[in-house]
Amino acid sequence: MNVSEINFGTSAGETVTETGLYRVFHDANHATVKDVVCLKGETLPQCVQCGSKVKFVLQKRLIHASQYARLVWPPEVRPKT
Ligand SMILES: [Zn+2]
Repeated sequence: MNVSEINFGTSAGETVTETGLYRVFHDANHATVKDVVCLKGETLPQCVQCGSKVKFVLQKRLIHASQYARLVWPPEVRPKT
């Protein structure tokens, strides 16, 4: 699928609004489809080859382990969030 056929998704430089699994589509077929995890509040990165033309399409919403009240870390290893 060429990115020009995609009229949805978010672009490099935009802020992630939902933590989840995202499928990465490139401007040309220079890379295979890859799914990555993006965290809410992060800025979506650029592609080393097609730059800001790379698109991210949410596949599955996820929550970070720190958002799941049934999980806790011991104080000495608690993530800094
Ligand atoms: Zn690319």
